[in-house]
Formats: sequence, structure tokens, C-alpha cells
Amino acid sequence: MTPVDLRSDTVTQPTPAMRAAMAAAPLGDDVFADDPSVNALQDKIAQMLGFEAALFVPTGTQSNLCAILSHCQRGDEYIVGQMQHCYRWEGGGAAVFGSVQPQPLNHASNGSLPLADIEAAIKPDDAHFARTKLLALENTLGGKLIPFAYVQEATDLARRKGLARHLDGARLFNAAVAQAAQTGADARAEARRIAQCFDSVSVCFSKGLGAPVGSALCGSQEFIARAHRIRKMAGGGMRQAGVLAAAASHALDHHIDRLADDHALARRLADGLAGLDGVQVEPPHTNIVFVDLTAGARDKSAGLLPALAAQGIQATGLYRLRFVTHLDVDAAGVDRAVAAIRHYFGT
Ligand SMILES: *Cc1c(COP(=O)(O)O)cnc(C)c1O
Repeated sequence: MTPVDLRSDTVTQPTPAMRAAMAAAPLGDDVFADDPSVNALQDKIAQMLGFEAALFVPTGTQSNLCAILSHCQRGDEYIVGQMQHCYRWEGGGAAVFGSVQPQPLNHASNGSLPLADIEAAIKPDDAHFARTKLLALENTLGGKLIPFAYVQEATDLARRKGLARHLDGARLFNAAVAQAAQTGADARAEARRIAQCFDSVSVCFSKGLGAPVGSALCGSQEFIARAHRIRKMAGGGMRQAGVLAAAASHALDHHIDRLADDHALARRLADGLAGLDGVQVEPPHTNIVFVDLTAGARDKSAGLLPALAAQGIQATGLYRLRFVTHLDVDAAGVDRAVAAIRHYFGT
């Protein structure tokens, strides 16, 4: 029985074509800046998103750290959402390594940070306060596409107030594909439109794009030069990294439009569970489906993941389960997951 791993879109294995691209990649030493495959990837993603420069980094966490520490000095602060990765899920790195204070805000139900809350959180220039320097947003956020009109308004507000603007776009291309489905435009054009609202953007290649490792941070030449120094301090200067960059390049060439398949599979999973007694399903915008167990079904929660695992189906969560679709799951796998969950709840 083929396993159905819905824990995350990070679990994908490189495809045979991606492995071939990796094997064929010309290599140098990226610390000497002469790995042609890394340089080509950096040029490609910078150009795609409309920035002067880009930096290949091992992880999205390091990319966000490099970004925050390049925008902010010790004693500065960044405005961020409670549920954003670069506040909640990165070990407090900006505070630990950079002495940069986060100012977390609560999200509205659509994932946005209310403009009035952003404005109220910007501190006056006064010795009592940390200096507010940066607004960090995330798109998609927990699989939610943040409305483009809001992205424009929030980043305009930040610009007017003199703040730098960073996008954690780990899943920017999922957002772009979902946005393109609404506007009818090309996904690359939507990715660029979103990215251009920001001074810096971080993109993960190792999530839905299906590469084994790597992220890129994009920004101005001057910003990337600062980020490059921080990457070095963080131990992120890699040598024959072109073998990884080639996988990321291949993903940009071949795996963007297919994200629509992942989104369709997420809807298939959500539709399959709709109306099931004991669960409440949030209709997914992209490739992440959250399923909440209703109060009456919570006594069944502890047994659910083991029951699924016994059938080769993996997910995460307890009362709020998370299922993520990706390159290595298909409709048959999603249907098996739906059937197993339905069976567990006795229908
Ligand atoms: C996964 C993720 C990251 C971090 O990526 P890693 O490569 O796991 O460090 C950052 N931001 C968001 C929104 C993510 O989903």
C-alpha cells in the first residue's frame, strides 16, 4: 500500500527529471561566488519577482532571519502576525540572534493584520520605545491567500510610515496560482505583483515546489549584500550548492503551474469530508486543509492519527488536524484518506 503522507508539502522527493537536473548541474564554490548554478538560480528568481538581487539560503528560517537582521538593528522592532512563521515558529531567532523585538498582532479571520492595529503598533520616536522598523507579512498564511487589495493597502501604509516591508513568501507561488485563478492572469505575473509590494521577499523551494532543500531571499543589491554577511554568520555559506540550486531552478521551470493540481486535491479532500459528523472543514484556498473536531468528537481525537497511520496515511494535529497536498500525493491517495477518516467516524 503506497503511503499517503499529508503532514507537509516539505516531504516531497525530487522527481527523476529534477534528479537529472541536479546530476547535470555545473558546480563551483558558492563561498567564492563562482558556482554557476547558484548564480543562475539567484538571477532567475530575482528577475522573476522583479528584484535587483537574490541570495540562495539553506532554509526559509535562515532566509527570514537574514531579512529581519538586514532590515533591523539591535533595539529595533518588527510588526508581525501572531501566527506568522517568522514570529511563532523560528525559535525567536530575530530576538535571540539580532536583539530585534517582535511586535506581534492578532490576525483578522482572513489572515490579514488590521490596518488600524498596524498603525497603532508603530511607536513614536521616543527613548521609551523600541524603534519600529519593519512590517513582515506572510502569504499564503496557513494556506490562506491574503487578499491582494489588503497586501497593497498594508504595504502602502508601512511605506508612508517609513517602515521596510518583508514578505515571508514560503508559499508565494501557491498564493500566486490561487490569485491567478481569480484574475485569469499568469501565475508568474501574480507572484511578481505580490512581491513588488515589498522591499524583500523570501521564497521556499522545498515546499510545494518540490525541491529537496533551499529558499531564496530577494531584495535590492545593497540589502542582499547585508543579508549575505548575515548568512555567513549564521553558517549558511554553502560550497557546491549548485547541486541544490539546480533542483530549485528545475522547480521554477516545471513546478509552478502544477500547484493548481495540489489545490484541486485539497478541495477534493475538503469536499470528501464535508457534512461528516464530528468534523468541521475549512474550505481551502490552496494546498492546506484544516479540519476541526467538534466538541462532541474530541474524545475520538487521540485515536484518529494512529488509526490513519495504520492504513499508511499521515497527517498532523489533534483537535485541529492539518492535511497538506503536494507533488507526491494523488487523487487515489486523497480518496483513501477521506475513506479512512469517514470510516473512523463511523460513516
Ligand atoms: C516552512 C516555512 C518557513 C521556514 O522554512 P524552513 O525551510 O522549514 O526553515 C518559513 N515561513 C513559512 C511560512 C513556512 O511555511
